[in-house]
Amino acid sequence: MAEFRWSAQEIRRDYLLHQSSRSLYTSAPRPLPNNPRRRPRRRTVTLIAAWRLSDSIVIHADSQETVTGDDGIEYRKTVLKIESEQMGNYKVIVAGSGDTPFILEFIEKLRRRLSEESADSLAAFIGIFEEQLRAHMDANPNAERSQFIVGLCCPISNEYNAWITQGSTLCPFDDHELTGHGESLYKETMNRFWTPGMTIQQAILAGIYLLTLAEATSNYVRSPFNIAIIRGNGIWTEPQKYIQLMRDRLSEYEQWVSKVFLACADTSINASQLKELLDNFSRAAENLHEQHIDRTVETLTLEEIMATDDPYPRRPPGITTIFADGTGKFIHDPERTKAIESRFRDAMEYAVKAPHYLRCHQCEREYEYMLANPGQDKEPATIRCIDCNAVNQVIGKVSKIQRLSSPGWVNLDETTPPSTSGKSEPEQ
Ligand SMILES: [Zn+2]
Repeated sequence: MAEFRWSAQEIRRDYLLHQSSRSLYTSAPRPLPNNPRRRPRRRTVTLIAAWRLSDSIVIHADSQETVTGDDGIEYRKTVLKIESEQMGNYKVIVAGSGDTPFILEFIEKLRRRLSEESADSLAAFIGIFEEQLRAHMDANPNAERSQFIVGLCCPISNEYNAWITQGSTLCPFDDHELTGHGESLYKETMNRFWTPGMTIQQAILAGIYLLTLAEATSNYVRSPFNIAIIRGNGIWTEPQKYIQLMRDRLSEYEQWVSKVFLACADTSINASQLKELLDNFSRAAENLHEQHIDRTVETLTLEEIMATDDPYPRRPPGITTIFADGTGKFIHDPERTKAIESRFRDAMEYAVKAPHYLRCHQCEREYEYMLANPGQDKEPATIRCIDCNAVNQVIGKVSKIQRLSSPGWVNLDETTPPSTSGKSEPEQ
């Protein structure tokens, strides 16, 4: 296996550059000719797609690198191609297609350069990136042509953008952009999906469809796919578990949609047969859609259900019931949602109007008290114990209090607000 030592070194280097890259041969590697001086050709022939939306940019990439040995045999290797990285004051995604060593070396140079810079604007980034890429191209005149899609977020100035390189220039793009293997073939699919006003979720699904199609038709594109969402306040990468769920979803709908598509144009089917097919499709689509929401909610952790900083919602607005084990279930029936919401409102109203329990921390006697402004106090308040005068915390301004052992309300309305009741005398 001595002939493969170069390959282990290369992989080690990748590993250092790309913390999470991993190597995988899809077929048993054959021995290379015994010529250690010649380096194998490593090409990142891949697909990278970027979608410009009204409030964000979504970037998709597959994860394959192809290494061509001297014997002309291509080996496939999995590399994580898009990963957001802090470089100086920027969060950056640099996804390259072309000559792997050229791309990795450039990213490392850019990383070092930006970590020395205090720059924090889009304009400054463009200047640095282009200067660095020009110098790198001049230093490697024989490197194969490579192209980058670059995504950037400057949290300090709340700016973001994405570009595609032409030579060493960062060119902004409208709508959508694609680079990599067979781009002209897949560009058409991308055009078909892109619509003005498409949502983040739709762009993510369209990109997954595009890469799935490319994986099925090309030796140079392979899952797992990587997806990043860029906004002014950060870059999110989509967890693999959701990507797989979305791939499953698309393939389940596609079977139905193809059937309907052909039936609509088929003149040998009469109108009532078509209507029956459409009715079946409508029922199946509704069921599938509910199942997909359920599966998505099942995969969410409690933190993810409660999270408010997701770049886009993973479930429709409505009620997700959370069980004791931390799992959730979405309620699909709008009537049930309405009923639960109304019960919840009643319960909240009752809860703020009902007496509250207090146990004095000093004399340990038990009391109940009523709030002066139920449901309106935002801050907790304090109240002096009517027996021992100790200061106790309560959830809002108190109007009256009574001992649980000997009921009889004591009115506190005339006292100063409980939060400043330090000076007032307790009623006896
Ligand atoms: Zn007390």
